[in-house]
Amino acid sequence: MYKSAFIEEEKCNGCRICVQFCPEPNVIVYLKDNKKCKVICEKCKGCEVCVLKCPKKAISLKMVK
Ligand code: SF4
Ligand code: SF4
Repeated sequence: MYKSAFIEEEKCNGCRICVQFCPEPNVIVYLKDNKKCKVICEKCKGCEVCVLKCPKKAISLKMVK
């Protein structure tokens, strides 16, 4: 079990602030097709920085098995 960030697609406006602040490389990716961001859960360290920085409150931490 580990903690990972998840982005609620409906709330995300694609601003990419989360990408800028995530201390780990290539964990949050911007999807050009729907202009929203996505977390690669397997790489996320659960540091919560993105949760605190997202202006839309679109990100939350969840436990992953
Ligand atoms: S900071 Fe929030 S609204 Fe902006 S791209 Fe990331 S998840 Fe979406
Ligand atoms: S919780 Fe930390 S490591 Fe995971 S996506 Fe957010 S900023 Fe990056």
